[in-house]
Amino acid sequence: MDFPRLFSPLDLGHTTLPNRILMGSMHTGLEDKAADFDKLARYFAERARGGVGLMVTGGIAPSIEGWLKPFGGRLTMPWHVGRHRKLTRAVHAEGGKLCMQILHAGRYGYHPLSVAPSKIRSPITPFTPRALSSRAVERTIGDFVRCAKLAQDAGYDGVEVMGSEGYLINQFLAARTNQRNDAWGGSAEKRMRLPIDIVRRTRQAVGRDFIIIYRLSMLDLVDNAQDWSEIVTLAKAIEAAGASIINTGIGWHEARVPTIVTSVPRGGFAWVTKKLKGEVSIPLITTNRINMPEVAEQILASGEADMVSMARPLLADPEWPNKAKAGHSERINTCIACNQACLDHVFQNRRASCLLNPRACHETELRIEPVSTRKNIAVVGAGPAGLACATTLAERGHAVTLIDQSSDIGGQFNYAKRIPGKEEFHETLRYFRHRLEDTGVTVKLGHAADAKTLTQHDEVVVATGITPRRIHFPGSDDPRILSYLDVLARDRPVGPRVAIIGAGGIGFDVAEFLVEQQPSPTLDVTRWTREWGVDMQLDTRGGLAPAKPEAPARQVWLLQRSEGRPGARLNKTTGWVHRATLKAKGVAMLGGVAYERFDDEGLHITVDGQLKVLPVDNVVICAGQEPNRSLADELIQAGVRTHVIGGADVAAELDAKRAIDQGTRLAATL
Ligand code: FAD
Ligand code: NAP
Ligand code: SF4
Repeated sequence: MDFPRLFSPLDLGHTTLPNRILMGSMHTGLEDKAADFDKLARYFAERARGGVGLMVTGGIAPSIEGWLKPFGGRLTMPWHVGRHRKLTRAVHAEGGKLCMQILHAGRYGYHPLSVAPSKIRSPITPFTPRALSSRAVERTIGDFVRCAKLAQDAGYDGVEVMGSEGYLINQFLAARTNQRNDAWGGSAEKRMRLPIDIVRRTRQAVGRDFIIIYRLSMLDLVDNAQDWSEIVTLAKAIEAAGASIINTGIGWHEARVPTIVTSVPRGGFAWVTKKLKGEVSIPLITTNRINMPEVAEQILASGEADMVSMARPLLADPEWPNKAKAGHSERINTCIACNQACLDHVFQNRRASCLLNPRACHETELRIEPVSTRKNIAVVGAGPAGLACATTLAERGHAVTLIDQSSDIGGQFNYAKRIPGKEEFHETLRYFRHRLEDTGVTVKLGHAADAKTLTQHDEVVVATGITPRRIHFPGSDDPRILSYLDVLARDRPVGPRVAIIGAGGIGFDVAEFLVEQQPSPTLDVTRWTREWGVDMQLDTRGGLAPAKPEAPARQVWLLQRSEGRPGARLNKTTGWVHRATLKAKGVAMLGGVAYERFDDEGLHITVDGQLKVLPVDNVVICAGQEPNRSLADELIQAGVRTHVIGGADVAAELDAKRAIDQGTRLAATL
């Protein structure tokens, strides 16, 4: 057994969990409509089959006031129980266990009925909450208890009381949001009455044989929040009130410190849970950026926690636990913490999925079934689109040849993986290397395909990607003007002062590549917490310290023609981290720029009607991409059955999510 601690059982008294893996709560968007519960049941059933010890649903509101958004999932009436029973039956049929998370959004509710301890709007919602009266606080406790009882009727193995991330309970705990002077505020003791009463009364209502997980905010990462002694006092009181397990919560949603994006170090907050070890005797779960069994085992072995929570890694690979248990962690499709198809979707009110696994939350709709007629199919291009397509086709039973002109698979992921903070992209390439082998794809590398050599195949899939867009202005043919491929693929030297033309995803990534010191702080928790201003001693309220960014490796200007703030179109839940990173490194970000010429003085630009010279040694062009379609056009002319996917199909707004999704969906139908 490679991971003995991860796969040791956990005795909770009335029940025993088979291993130390919790699939943490993750909103999927399927919780909100009764009609989607069959899909949700299949989603959980696949993960139960994959061997996870315990799962927690996305947040379910205990009242309409507690909704996350209008008409969000709630469990408040006896007639809501039936839909939840679908989930528990499906999970129990696979031998799994499922808890339901009770989440009262408080002032994070995205609707006009939201409530809070005090009438203080959050910086991330447009609605000002109504302050709860003392009687309404009592009623809210009753709502939690009723919700837990209904969950028990629905067959859940337990509930998780959501007390972190800045939601209602957390709002009661912090003076920044709780300015009451009645029995529920005014002192730390009064501020913590709400969660303690909720847990105590829930335990009284559900009896002993029911799991109560309490998600405790151990590091608020906002000003005027809890201090460590209050957190320890609360943890002890929560244990005494009857919780079975304490789960770790890190950071409010409005915090200025990132907590789960890919540039956060792996297991980067396990040290927080460790500080609580020994203070309580019930098991402690740690969380955030744990995505591989080696990381989880190390955390358990070093005594930082008793169990690990992972949500997104089980979206990416439902078979994660079984693969780890069988000693095949190299075959895990590792979550790269990009948020692109999970959290970004949820924040856009769309159903969650996974960039790497488009079947996630679409299990009943995207089916990968064996073929009746085996075809001979060539896939040209081993970037994300071609890899997903080739391996899915082969899994279904087709004879597949994957051809790439490079000496390695991966396409543009080979450049993405070089960006500091994007080290996880290596894992995707490792996963696909094994998957090609396991599905029996014939791989031909170092071979530029042309139409003539492909006519013997029944069908050809063209996944030849993109070519970087070239732009022209006086001096643009100077050798000091580089493309992003010169920098990331060819290691051309870059001077100490650089202008980047184009501030899309690649412009931002190249800027980070040029300013960050190597190796990147993502690989070192202490350096990373110093950079972002996290107090590892936990001496300050909220655990915040002054941020101390390391000196930039270069002076960089990041430019775009459009007016407005560069980076406004970056992804919803991660764009702010990229903007903050570059700001901390002193990168000058300019919009509304016209490129006039380049010469020995530097790059001449016009901004706000003013001519300016940026005294740079190099310019790096990151001005978007064009589809690489020449092979597709030749094949179509030659009458070969041709399918075009990924960047070769449409380069505008292309990302790996679209590339993999398109490749997988095409492969499911051929
Ligand atoms: P590509 O990845 O471009 O692959 C095309 C392949 O086809 C290449 O391997 C090429 O060698 C091969 N090929 C071309 N012509 C031929 C031929 N005639 N014969 C044989 N082989 C051929 N996306 C995200 O979603 N998230 C990110 O965080 C992200 N970060 C990025 C960071 C950087 C620095 C870069 C450059 C890109 C990033 N992307 C990101 C974009 C993402 O990598 C692309 O959207 C994705 O790779 C496109 O996949 P594809 O398969 O269509 O094409
Ligand atoms: P992009 O996001 O479309 O950005 C292209 C940039 O080039 C824009 O800033 C654009 O701004 C500028 N530009 C376009 N045409 C130009 C021209 N003719 N002259 C000068 N400037 C021009 O493309 P990208 O940065 O190349 O990224 C490619 C894809 O990879 C993107 O779709 C992105 O989603 C994906 N990606 C994603 C991530 C991620 O973290 N999710 C990271 C990297 C890449 P102006 O037109 O205003 O000048
Ligand atoms: Fe992980 Fe990205 Fe998939 Fe979300 S979309 S589960 S972050 S790989």
